[in-house]
Amino acid sequence: MRRIVFLGSPGAGKGTQAAALAQELSVAHLSTGDLLRAAVAGKTPLGTEADGYIRKGLLVPDDLVVQILRERLDHPDTSDGFLLDGFPRTLAQAELLDRFVPLDDVIAFEIPEELLIERLTQRRLCPVCKTVYNVVTAPPRIAGHCDRDGAALEQRSDDLPDAVRTRIAVYHRQTEPVLKFYQDRGRLRTLDARGTPEEVRARLRALLGLPATP
Ligand code: AMP
Repeated sequence: MRRIVFLGSPGAGKGTQAAALAQELSVAHLSTGDLLRAAVAGKTPLGTEADGYIRKGLLVPDDLVVQILRERLDHPDTSDGFLLDGFPRTLAQAELLDRFVPLDDVIAFEIPEELLIERLTQRRLCPVCKTVYNVVTAPPRIAGHCDRDGAALEQRSDDLPDAVRTRIAVYHRQTEPVLKFYQDRGRLRTLDARGTPEEVRARLRALLGLPATP
């Protein structure tokens, strides 16, 4: 049983690392961004309400995010632990989590701001298997198509430059206090998130005390 939280700005590479690590540790990968996008795609009432915030790069109101996460935490696959990716993003979310769930590891991904805009605007996703590409640093073998299943790659609407700028500003204003929250409690550990996914993975493994090779 291990309960891990990944914090860090959009584009820091949390999702990429979370997917691989959750699979390796056999814990549930809980991305509130993915849960919200699924609700938007499914046109649920919650998704419809969240859509406008996501498009603009703003945070979805706490009550909606907490609701969607609670429902997901009720799923039995979280009983062996989980990796939270993209939650908490506000102090209110952090305080709530603190009251209900004990955490084992809180890792903050650190990356210079100038790398973020590049990473986010160059990002493309497979809508089927969710593999993440970067058109410059990690392109697919056939331009525009997923290596695994051939699906046409998509760009998130909030990876367009205006929304990216908003998301980074929102991170400074609303999520940085969350880092301080964990730091004040002696819980925060920082990860140098520069470099390739493999390099970051090696640092992450060392930080979590996992053997060097999976
Ligand atoms: P992500 O995929 O983690 O970058 O999240 C995409 C978008 O979903 C964010 O820009 C927010 O609009 C929304 N979102 C995801 N997680 C949260 C959260 N914990 N609190 C509020 N909004 C969130």
